[in-house]
Amino acid sequence: SSHLPDARPLFSFAARSGVPAGFRPPPRRVVVTGGAGFVGSHLVDRLLEQGDSVIVVDNFFTGRKENVAHHLRNPRFELLRHDVVEPILLEVDRIYHLACPASPVHYKYNPIKTIKTNVMGTLNMLGLAKRIGARFLLTSTSEVYGDPLEHPQKETYWGNVNPIGVRSCYDEGKRTAETLTMDYHRGGGVEVRIARIFNTYGPRMCLDDGRVVSNFVAQALRRQPMTVYGDGKQTRSFQYVSDLVAGLMALMESDHIGPFNLGNPGEFTMLELAQVVKETIDPMATIEFKPNTADDPHMRKPDITKAKQLLHWEPKVSLKEGLPLMVTDFRQRISDE
Ligand code: NAD
Ligand code: UDP
Ligand code: UDP
Repeated sequence: SSHLPDARPLFSFAARSGVPAGFRPPPRRVVVTGGAGFVGSHLVDRLLEQGDSVIVVDNFFTGRKENVAHHLRNPRFELLRHDVVEPILLEVDRIYHLACPASPVHYKYNPIKTIKTNVMGTLNMLGLAKRIGARFLLTSTSEVYGDPLEHPQKETYWGNVNPIGVRSCYDEGKRTAETLTMDYHRGGGVEVRIARIFNTYGPRMCLDDGRVVSNFVAQALRRQPMTVYGDGKQTRSFQYVSDLVAGLMALMESDHIGPFNLGNPGEFTMLELAQVVKETIDPMATIEFKPNTADDPHMRKPDITKAKQLLHWEPKVSLKEGLPLMVTDFRQRISDE
């Protein structure tokens, strides 16, 4: 790795995570699948900033070249259009496996493709990790808990998931991806990490991906009513993207396999969320009730005790602090339309 520059910025969350001040991780060769997407592109920003070389593998289903365009002239950055359902040969030290549509609208658009991405895509990335001895991190989801009968959810909870429903391509797909990950660890000796991500928001989310925060923000900016599904009393916990990226990087470089819940325990009903969006964007914003979708979980809130204790990680950005940062980005993109 002699071609890599010597000067590397400080490990960005070192101070917060209990790592000695001045600690610099060695530069690595990293693959980020799904790196042109929302979470992936923010992760790529931080990895390049810390001196790593990054290869993004993305089929651009929901990702956009614009999300990583600012790195295209960086010699430590490479962008590959590739579908993880197909095998690939690469030589790297770390694999962050994010490739998978995350919003219900996108993952239900072609459920067969979604389950193939979760199963065959994860299998290929684990096969790659095994062949080259790379460490592999899976971005799983709080959806593995289904419509939970335990609240808040701990990692020890096995979930309440419908195996044949319209969300199954995603939640059962991710459960299978977790199984594959543990089997490659136990049977194939692969070093693995599993993160269970709770609802995350921030700049670069798709404007019309149907998720609640992006919907409400785009609707309020366009002076349309915010669409509340069902009675709006269902709850979610919303994490700002920079907190998630810090958690993913802390997990990857930790000695722990997981699974770890990564989410912000602040819990809101959809009606409360609409109120925060209203206060942030437009005091005149209105809401409109719509029928809810099938199998919608009634409540969701992470128990993050395990990540706090073992990764020394916890989210820093509250909804009221994070939302304006996303609104600035959405306002710009909506005015460019
Ligand atoms: P996103 O849709 O913005 O990003 C997913 C990326 O994967 C996109 O760039 C897409 O083009 C790419 N992709 C999809 N299928 C692919 C395939 N077959 N081959 C190659 N690339 C493919 O979503 P996101 O919010 O950034 O989510 C990233 C990961 O985090 C996903 O695995 C998702 O399941 C997980 N996650 C996200 C959230 C959240 O709230 N954002 C919550 C839980 C889990
Ligand atoms: N694989 C890949 N890149 C590699 C190594 C493996 O894409 O560098 C794929 C491979 O094509 C296979 C999957 O990963 O579909 C699982 O690989 P493994 O070696 O575990 O299984 P096998 O090839 O023996 O079925
Ligand atoms: N939701 C809503 N209005 C919208 C989009 C979603 O009220 O315009 C609700 C949805 O029914 C769910 C919650 O918001 O209860 C979170 O939905 P999202 O699709 O963002 O994520 P999920 O946690 O269901 O994957």
